[in-house]
Amino acid sequence: MKILVAVKRVVDYNVKVRVKADGSAVETDGVKFSMNPFDEIAVEEAVRLKEKGLATEVVAVSLGVAQCQETLRTALAVGADRAIHVQTDVELQPLAVAKLLKAICDKEQPQLVILGKQAIDDDCNQTGQMLAALTGWPQGTFASKVEITGNEISVVREVDGGLETVALSMPAVVTTDLRLNEPRYATLPNIMKAKKKPLETLTVDALGVDASPRLATLKVAEPAKRKGGIKVDSVATLVDKLKNEARVI
Ligand code: AMP
Repeated sequence: MKILVAVKRVVDYNVKVRVKADGSAVETDGVKFSMNPFDEIAVEEAVRLKEKGLATEVVAVSLGVAQCQETLRTALAVGADRAIHVQTDVELQPLAVAKLLKAICDKEQPQLVILGKQAIDDDCNQTGQMLAALTGWPQGTFASKVEITGNEISVVREVDGGLETVALSMPAVVTTDLRLNEPRYATLPNIMKAKKKPLETLTVDALGVDASPRLATLKVAEPAKRKGGIKVDSVATLVDKLKNEARVI
């Protein structure tokens, strides 16, 4: 069984994001980038399935600028077997990413595609669902547990009211939630070994996909600054303030 894992290069989650002076986008110059945290979980799950003997190959895919290859090398260092980079400098929105991943699925014929539930830069939470729609494959989103038996995959989903378990026949699309697993760190020897693993570069044109943006960003703004807190001198004042001044959010 071949597993395809989508890994996005995003601004590192520890970076305090700043908006560009003209309000057009987030500042990315001189900023640290890393693999989207939910995609680290996706790679970890794929590698664990391979370690259990349930998968034979793990292929990591990243779409975007040349530096996405660094993200792919990280995926290779934690256990992916090979990587595919679809290189473009054009801003890729979820529909374009889903179309490109569909073209790669046509080419690679994986039994399972694992994506993060959302990218922490755009917070879209759309790509996995769109890919499932384009391929016509069943989807198990927000996965906190995955079990494979024969040609069936059971996915425990984190939903508002608790947990929901769905059974999907493969090929299928799964998106990861935070509690699915705890990703391992890449060891130095594995980082070195990853440099020798195969990394194929493709273009958007070669995949025959129209990846042009469909949405225009009108404005990006930072959240309003929080006002400082105050100390109250008694419980009675606190209760009074809670009753009369607290806003329901
Ligand atoms: P989103 O729908 O943008 O929140 O992204 C959901 C998931 O889709 C991410 O966690 C990734 O697994 C995948 N994804 C989105 N954009 C890309 C990209 N440019 N390259 C690789 N994977 C991506």
